[in-house]
Amino acid sequence: MSKAFASQADLAQKKITFEQLSAHCWAYTAEGDPNSGVIIGENAILVSDATATPALARDLIAKIRTVSDKPIKYVLLTHYHAVRVLGASAYKAEGATEIIASKGTLDLIHERGAQDMKSEMERFPRLFQGAEEVPGLTWPTLVVGDGQPGRQGSIRLDLGGVWVEIWHPGPGHTRGDTVAWVEAEKVLFSGDLVEYEAGVYTGDAHLLEWPATLEALRALNAEAIVPGRGVAMKGNAQVNRSLDYTRQWVQMLYQCAQEAVAQKLDLKGAMSLTREKMDPVFGHVFIYEHCLPFDVSRAFDEASGIKNPRIWTAERDQEMWVSLQA
Ligand SMILES: [Zn+2]
Repeated sequence: MSKAFASQADLAQKKITFEQLSAHCWAYTAEGDPNSGVIIGENAILVSDATATPALARDLIAKIRTVSDKPIKYVLLTHYHAVRVLGASAYKAEGATEIIASKGTLDLIHERGAQDMKSEMERFPRLFQGAEEVPGLTWPTLVVGDGQPGRQGSIRLDLGGVWVEIWHPGPGHTRGDTVAWVEAEKVLFSGDLVEYEAGVYTGDAHLLEWPATLEALRALNAEAIVPGRGVAMKGNAQVNRSLDYTRQWVQMLYQCAQEAVAQKLDLKGAMSLTREKMDPVFGHVFIYEHCLPFDVSRAFDEASGIKNPRIWTAERDQEMWVSLQA
């Protein structure tokens, strides 16, 4: 029997946890589904990653309202993926005035936002329940940096009693990944640059450059992190564990692809070679089976010399899936 495409058969609801990590920082995590972070100041609130739909965003807003009645002024998009950005209109309805994204992310929304939206909705229907409410693509109103990586391009926002710094630390999960950092409390909101015990989706990634970006994050010496997926990690040793986990996935995947290219294997051959190495280490984590075909496709492309990730469309998704399961 053929396996259902991507996560079309994944219908089990996840348990959501809303937990306080420090004086002003909160984690909204969901057993391997996309996480969000919340920073609550005396004057304003920032939400890092908008969730997939306005309905999901309203659930997060309700959680915030159990602990604060301050205005949600800022929404940060850590990158362009639909599951992170399409809930944004719910915050606008709540009075949010700024949607923040990096220059790299803005460019990617222009280049491939529409294709990504269609493709992601078909890959993971459960996450997009209520998607008919989405008014279209989410466009940033405040753009961070000029596309070059590094903290020199950061912006700093005063939320009242707490400052948050936002910048693009380097390519990894996408070309525009952006982090939020509350230095005074040493809490990092990484988006999908860092995951823990969940699939590391690399379909749009820059695998060779990703480890250096992870090391730039390690140098912050965070005491807590809200990863893109998986539980929030508390204590520097646990933060490093999530960085190591992500780095191991990215490097193992890319090494397998390099080996496949060296052996002149086709994509299917690359898939079996990768499975041999990665299944025993990562096969048990959330959305592993969802990620792997997209990951191997991108790793194989990058190892073959294709620098800019090819755009996924709903049609390309299906073609790839069928060719790898056949
Ligand atoms: Zn993503």
